[in-house]
Order: sequence, then C-alpha cells, then structure tokens
Amino acid sequence: MCGIMGYTGTLPAVPIIIKGLEGLEYRGYDSAGLGVIKAGEISVYKTQGSPEKLWNTVPENLISSVGVGHTRWATHGAPTAQNAHPHLSPDGLFTVVHNGIIENFAALKSELEEQGYIFNSETDTEVVAYLLEKEYKGDVKSAITNVLTRLEGSYALGILCNDYPDTIFCAKYSSPLFVSLESDGGYIASDVSVLPKNAGKIYKIGDKEIGILSKDELKVFDIDGCRIRKTEIKVRDIKNLEGKGEYAHYMLKEIYEQPQAVEDTLESIIVNSRIKLNTLRLTKEKIKRINRIEFIACGSAYHAGAVGAYIAQKLMGIPCEAYIASEYRYSNPVPDENTLAVIISQSGETADTLAALREAKRHNAKIVSIINAPLSTIAQESDSVILTKAGKEVAVATTKAFSAQLVVIYALCTRLAYSSGKINKARYSELIEQMKNLPEKIREILKNDREYKALADELKDINYTCFIGRGVDYCAAMEGALKLKEVSYTHCEAYAAGELKHGTISLIEQGTPVVAVAAQSSVSQKTVSNIRECKARGAKIICIGNENSFTPDADDKMLLIPQTEDLFKTSLTVIPMQLIAYYTALNKGCSIDKPKNLAKSVTVE
Ligand code: GLU
Repeated sequence: MCGIMGYTGTLPAVPIIIKGLEGLEYRGYDSAGLGVIKAGEISVYKTQGSPEKLWNTVPENLISSVGVGHTRWATHGAPTAQNAHPHLSPDGLFTVVHNGIIENFAALKSELEEQGYIFNSETDTEVVAYLLEKEYKGDVKSAITNVLTRLEGSYALGILCNDYPDTIFCAKYSSPLFVSLESDGGYIASDVSVLPKNAGKIYKIGDKEIGILSKDELKVFDIDGCRIRKTEIKVRDIKNLEGKGEYAHYMLKEIYEQPQAVEDTLESIIVNSRIKLNTLRLTKEKIKRINRIEFIACGSAYHAGAVGAYIAQKLMGIPCEAYIASEYRYSNPVPDENTLAVIISQSGETADTLAALREAKRHNAKIVSIINAPLSTIAQESDSVILTKAGKEVAVATTKAFSAQLVVIYALCTRLAYSSGKINKARYSELIEQMKNLPEKIREILKNDREYKALADELKDINYTCFIGRGVDYCAAMEGALKLKEVSYTHCEAYAAGELKHGTISLIEQGTPVVAVAAQSSVSQKTVSNIRECKARGAKIICIGNENSFTPDADDKMLLIPQTEDLFKTSLTVIPMQLIAYYTALNKGCSIDKPKNLAKSVTVE
C-alpha cells in the first residue's frame, strides 16, 4: 500500500523518482507526488491518479539531483492533489512523504492548532512535517528522534530539509523501507523491486532507526542517537517485473503462471519424494507437542488458511482453526507454547497479519510464516519461514501467490502429520505424489479457457451470484466469490452449502447463478442436495466438480476438473473461478489489475 521512492546523487532525480513510483503502482495508490531541492529551495508537484501524470506536472527544466516521491493510498482525507504527499512544514523547511498511519495524529494536530499552526491538508502525515520544523534547532537527526518519540502508529518516512540539500533523511516503524547505495548515488524505496537492477549495496532500515543518506554514504542511528552498523541484504530471490508480455492483463498472465508457480514452490520443498522443509525450526519432539494449529491471514491468504485448518485437523486430529488476522488480534486469543501459528501473507508486510503474529508470539506460540517476500518484516519476526516461489505478483487480486500458498500448506500439514506419527509412510507418500501432479492438472484446466469465457459472457449483466461448497470446497467457494467481487464489482457471497437454507436461500430466484463447488467425493453428494434446493427455486447452476458429482440439466453448466486427493481439490477448483472472474471483469470494462479502492500490499491496519 503506497510507495516511497527517493534519490540523491549525480543523475537527474525526477525521472528516477517517477519511474520508481510507476514500478510501485502495483501496491495500490490513488494519487502521487514528488518534491525536489534545487538551489536550497524545495519544489513540490502533486496529482490525483497515477504517477504517470507527474511527467506532465513537473516542468521539463526542473533539474535536481535530490528528491522524494510518493504514491498515496488515502487513509486520512480524500484522494485529492491537496492531500497527496509530499507535505511541507509551515515555513517549507521540511518535506515529508509517509507510508502508514499516525494513529495519534488528531491529538498532535489539536495541540499544534492551539499553538497557532494552520494545516493545509486533511492527512495525518502533515503533523509530522510540522513537528519536525518545531523540533528543529539545526540538527535534523535530533529533530527526527524527538518527533518519533511522539508518534504512535506505523510509518515509513522520507524527509528532505532545505538546510541539507544533498541529503535524504528517513525513518520507519512497521512499514517497509529499503536503501541502496550505487555508484551514481543513494536510493530509498518501499520495495527492493524498484531499486536499480545493478543494485550495489541494499540495506533494510529497521524499526525506529533513522537513516541519513547522501550520494555516497548511508549513516544509520538508533532512537538513542547511537550509530548502527548495518549489514547488506542479499537480493538473489527477487524476481523483477517482466511486463505483461502477450497477455492483456497481469491477472491473466499470473493465472497462466500458476502451474509454474506451484511447480517451483513444490520443487523447493519436495526432494526425492520427501518433504524437506529445511527452514522449519521445529524438532520432532516439538511437533509432537503441538496440540493446536491456528492459521492467521487476511483476504485470499485467509482462504488458504481455511483450507489449511481443514487439512490439518483431518490429518492431525487436533483442533485447527483459521482466523482473519484483524479479528484475531482483538479477540483475546489464547494460544500457548504448544500452539503452532501459521501466518500467511504474500507480501510479508500485511499490517493486520503482522500484528496478529506479534500477538501469537506474545503468548509463546511457535510461528511459521508462509510468504512470498523473503526480506519482509513477517519473515524477520517468524521462528520459521517457508517461502512460496510465485515470483513477483503484480495484479492486486492474487492468483498465483494463493496457489503457491496452498501447496506449501499441503506440504506443511503432511509433514507435521507424518512427523507426529498421525499418518503412516504409505499415506505420506501418497499425498506427496498427489501434490507433485497438481501443476499438470492445473495446466489441463487452463486449456478450457474458452468455456469459462463463454460463461462469463452470461454473467456480465448479473447483479448477484451465490457460491456454495462444503469443507475445502467451501474455502474454494469463498475464494471464487472474492475474486469475482474484487475484479468485476459483482455482488456475491460464499455460503457453506448446508447453511444456505438457514438464510441466504431467500435470495435465490429465477435465473440466480449459483456456483456450486462439489469436488470432494466425501461430501459432494451432500452439496448436490443443496444444489437441488437451489434449482427448485429457479437457480442456474454452475457446478465445479468431477464426472460423478452432478448431472446437469440443459440450463446448468458442469465444469469438470481432474481427479486428485480430496484435501487438495481447492488447487484445481479455484482455477475456473479465477478465469470466470477475470472474463466477467473484462466484459464489464473494469480496471482488472488495479481494482478500485484496493491495494496489493495492505500495510495499514
Ligand atoms: N496516512 C497517510 C495519508 O492518508 C499515508 C497513506 C499511505 O500510506 O499512502 O495520507
């Protein structure tokens, strides 16, 4: 969510900053801006909408070699140019870009207003610029330190001060911030993917650290003013954006990359038909002591967690539950040292998930995280990290990262069940074989693209779609409904199939589409009974399952998926629903890769 890009060096800063901001667009934004220092004076340019518009907003003759830029995802105040960052201090001495939320901004703002300060925006960020100028007595580092002690919430800050025209100051808490030192100067960014490809030395700024960056040096201090020696981070795992290629949208490209993402992920954790989770720091004894598993995540990752809870409970025979991270945190959770908390996040920076991780850790739960970003904060704070090998996912609506999360969950649950003696060698080997075949089966499903496209043509003018399923089919239904909502703005909901008659069935009328996931042989006939209940009330059924799941009438549609282990069916059933969501959005002319109001990496609570 939001992006920061800054540069100080020997090259013109404006193009570097705008290009960097464009590279950060995938994180979600609604406005953009940049500020540069030239001849000891700051100039600020802002726009509503995409950072691309900055090319026309900034005068061509503005040559400066120091600046900071920002893509904003509004949390406080409308997404207007006025509220876009950077924000200036009252006398224009400081310029600030900020990612995150200053939770106590209202109190700070009233305090400043009582002292006669007048604000120019509705943002929480502006108080930071004002406080900096107020605290400044010639030493920027001390001013930042004093301001940080007053801030509550989350922040990554890029700061310019006119008195130091070659320097970028930065600080962070909870939101990510990276610095790189190159032969042509110093860069700051929210994400390493936009740092120069020939990356010299890359550093991650830590919580409550203050960075002072010039063109050839980075000095970092802790909140007590002591110098910190930073170690370089390794970036070999970072795959950069490769463009959309032949595809009209990143979402479609990423749907098609799923067999590869799943294969790459499985190859990294299954070696010689054995699950090798080298990064899992749990001894056999500790695994045997686990008496509860909590899967904690947001959005699609939560649906992957819900699948995990079904599988783990089935294989391990202990209580396993999936939690929405933002709920977990405030639900007085009661994990203990024998609880395994499985934290799932594509970006590894999801604020709600990070907070839930910290809560679980406070109770001494063992933390295993499943993430796609090895350098992320969640990775750093977990006891064990298992990486998904999905590569960079650009479309806001996740597809390949979700699929990669699923297979890590399958492998983790299988490994835990085997190590704790809950399943025997034969079952362990059988599950691994089934996992290994998934990429090929996903490829097979993708070949039916036309069929899904034709269905999406029928859904174009529909206002309400209902999704049902049981067990892991219900988790798939939740994910299918979320995809359709996210990208095509169609109202829909997922219901546990057996629960339908306890309420939602009142919404079913002549022609209402009901997407029924009925792939698990163990419960598909129960779901078919629920399908019949819907049909009796006029529903048009789109059933996703196997040959013997359901016999469709002329009005219905049966989408067949290949056979696999019941527990792993979500990996297959979700694919048609992703494509139906994509083509429905395409038919409706929606902004597919960046749906309105959504952000990729949700770094605010
Ligand atoms: N809270 C700040 C604002 O609303 C920053 C939001 C962001 O991270 O983009 O301006």
